[in-house]
Amino acid sequence: MKFISTRGQAPALGFSDAVATGLAPDGGLYLPESLPRFTAGELARFAALSYPELCYEFLSRFATDIPADTLRALVARSYTTFSHADIAPVVKLDEKTYVLELFHGPTLAFKDFALQLLGNLYGHQCQVRGQSINVLGATSGDTGSAAIHGLLGKPGTAIFILYPDGRTSPLQERQMACTGADNVHALAISGTFDDAQAALKELFADQEFRTRHRLSAVNSINLARILAQCVYYLWAWLRLPAGVREETEWVVPTGNFGNVLAGWLLQKMGVPLHSFRVATNQNDILHRLFTTGDYRVGVVTPSLAPSMDIQVSSNFERFLYFSVGRDPAKVREIMETFKRTGAYTFENFDRDTFTASRTTDEEIPSIIRQVYQDYNYIADPHTACGFKSLSKERPSIVLATASPAKFPETITSAIKIEPTAPSLEALKAKPLVKHKLPADAAAIRAYIDRHAV
Ligand SMILES: *Cc1c(COP(=O)(O)O)cnc(C)c1O
Repeated sequence: MKFISTRGQAPALGFSDAVATGLAPDGGLYLPESLPRFTAGELARFAALSYPELCYEFLSRFATDIPADTLRALVARSYTTFSHADIAPVVKLDEKTYVLELFHGPTLAFKDFALQLLGNLYGHQCQVRGQSINVLGATSGDTGSAAIHGLLGKPGTAIFILYPDGRTSPLQERQMACTGADNVHALAISGTFDDAQAALKELFADQEFRTRHRLSAVNSINLARILAQCVYYLWAWLRLPAGVREETEWVVPTGNFGNVLAGWLLQKMGVPLHSFRVATNQNDILHRLFTTGDYRVGVVTPSLAPSMDIQVSSNFERFLYFSVGRDPAKVREIMETFKRTGAYTFENFDRDTFTASRTTDEEIPSIIRQVYQDYNYIADPHTACGFKSLSKERPSIVLATASPAKFPETITSAIKIEPTAPSLEALKAKPLVKHKLPADAAAIRAYIDRHAV
């Protein structure tokens, strides 16, 4: 299987190269050259598989350049770090309401599904090529900690995560800075997230530095992340009752559009998922897009669901590619207009399978309270956005993207109960090791020069 760029001006690559490359050299994102179609017979057979077995079956259609036994072992290892036997349990709240819990991984948010696997893929690549990899990223929270836990202690790798000192939640900082692993570098930058991001861009623009350290970026556009996320939709679809599964709306708390895109791609592979709701917080670029066709950059306002505080949804370009009939020239034209003007209006936009909702910070605590009253279930602030206005006509499955234990302040103020998780309690006892640096590319470069593997 080959992978092509949405912008059509980069060579097609095999799976491992596309994963190692991340962003295509023409600025586009990688997609499978053709999508497999799963038959009813295959789906029936999949129902009996464990989560890692199902993940292997799915990925083996794409990762055709990794030997079967190796891929099977990499996948199995990726999900041993999860604390729930089902990996992604489906919880029934009532006849029409289900939750897919995606927060039983090491950092208690759904990004672990992809980043545990990506960490093992990187580790495998180091072995095959006999070369080390240095991973570098900037984070305002969840992605950085999930990436760190994907690479924790892996030989031949080091990870450097820049974050704005004092501006992530204390628990998020502990998840990054209390790992005790020698190959993890939590770099607390004086300044804002944008300052950290700007320094990072400067470092990646330095070709010599980049090549010398075999630097790889942590970001939300890696192909492996999207494919790993397709699996839990398939898993959950197989677990919904037979009369319900083809009628259910999938409600997805959304920021960068990576999570919901994975479900939609699975639907294109012949698995009959009915429809999707894109649930945004008050940063609502995608809500406006799906309700009006207007795609327009707004100003980010920090919210109670911080992992969805985004301006531009980078993964949207993959959806766009299909929406314009797989025409890379059209994708280039639209992305160029968008870059130049900050806006694009879609006219003949297929919105059939998507609806959207928007939830403000005023609404989040009252939704948490309502869900707790109705179902005795605690939803985190991101998941709460999904519980807004559930469909009256059809069953819903809400994707729970983070554990409530990651957001004790919001939950306690809403329902007077303080949620906890054993892994977070354990962190509080561990020493915090962070390296303070100025938001200056030269200082960060010098640090990486000293610590790269
Ligand atoms: C990253 C994240 C999201 C948003 O997911 P996207 O793939 O960016 O749409 C939602 N909830 C939580 C808890 C997250 O960490």
